[in-house]
Amino acid sequence: MTGWEAERIDLKGMTLPELERFLSRWGKERYRARQLFRWIYQRFAGDFDGMTDLSKEFRGLLTGSCRISGPAAERVEVSVDGTEKYLFRLEDGEAVESVLIPDDGRRTLCISSQVGCALGCGFCATGAMGFRRDMTSAEIVHQACFAAKRLEGRGERLSNVVFMGMGEPLQNVPEVSRAIEILLSQYGFGLSGKRVTVSTAGIVPEMLRMAERYPVSFAVSVNAPRDELRSHLMPINRKYPLRDLVAAMKRVPLRSGRKVTAEYVLLSGVNDAPEDARALALLFRGSRIKVNLIPFNPHDGGRYAAPGRETADRFREILVGAGIQAITRERRGEDIRAACGQLRGSVHKYGNRTGGSGGVAAGGGAPHSRT
Ligand code: SAH
Ligand code: SF4
Repeated sequence: MTGWEAERIDLKGMTLPELERFLSRWGKERYRARQLFRWIYQRFAGDFDGMTDLSKEFRGLLTGSCRISGPAAERVEVSVDGTEKYLFRLEDGEAVESVLIPDDGRRTLCISSQVGCALGCGFCATGAMGFRRDMTSAEIVHQACFAAKRLEGRGERLSNVVFMGMGEPLQNVPEVSRAIEILLSQYGFGLSGKRVTVSTAGIVPEMLRMAERYPVSFAVSVNAPRDELRSHLMPINRKYPLRDLVAAMKRVPLRSGRKVTAEYVLLSGVNDAPEDARALALLFRGSRIKVNLIPFNPHDGGRYAAPGRETADRFREILVGAGIQAITRERRGEDIRAACGQLRGSVHKYGNRTGGSGGVAAGGGAPHSRT
């Protein structure tokens, strides 16, 4: 990007009201913003040239002072199971990753919201990187533009977005909120709140505030049924302990099909004992909280291991026996290190099935259950 380009105003990442306000300075009507929104988020335009429903004069004005950013996907990896991982090089040289998971009819994109993460959970590759910076709303939604454009090329549509990539979305609320508005807008991605999930390590006040503002679903990384163990695994627990967290999870209104899921990374010999399952069941008793069990995914420097299948099955059966809905999440994209907790925004030596950044990926994706 040249210096001149950096000075132009980026229209990607503005919410619809922000874009309306911006264009009103030029005396443009509100519907102009809706037109631009459709071009950017439904037709994935990268410049103004092809916007044929805008006058030549307006296009010239836009080209002269605005831009539509789109960080390049420096690397696209395609797993044998159809999962795809994208590495985006951001304008300041930082890198983040997103993962696209095909699953029966669904096409779920797992997006990043920060470069690194400040919360330092001991089992997580992103946590091990430390915090580098917040992502902008433009960078956040661009991940969805890129994936949706790729999918469109093969006659598919992006159906779900989960904030489960790098970073803690509730530590970057202003930019994540803008991205959510664009994902939900009928002139943007037009996704329903059920299909947009914010995953959080449990920043309780922000979760409650976001639940008031947007009809999105939540996933909460619980990972331990007792404060002592949870504080050890996830230092944020010292600030927002389990009792407050679980109360908040129960309070998030469940109207209009909104879901709250508890994520539980199974760490062998650490949090996978039958009594842990029983304690967890007790915490969630009488609620509609569903539990997603995620066997630990290994990464460089990770000192944990996943339990064997029998232990994982036992854990799940105890929950189900106690009336708690629980599933074990299938590992996806293991060969390209695209699974939960493996993202760290650097090119590594493991991927070997690289596709072209603009190309159509091979492999349709075997149907696996992942909710
Ligand atoms: N910061 C948010 C979202 C990103 S982490 C959060 O913590 O929820 C997304 C999920 O990956 C979380 O549920 C987290 O517990 C899980 N995770 C992190 N490292 C993992 C690993 N090594 N194996 C399996 N899951 C992991
Ligand atoms: Fe951050 Fe989530 Fe990883 Fe914890 S699990 S370090 S909150 S990204």
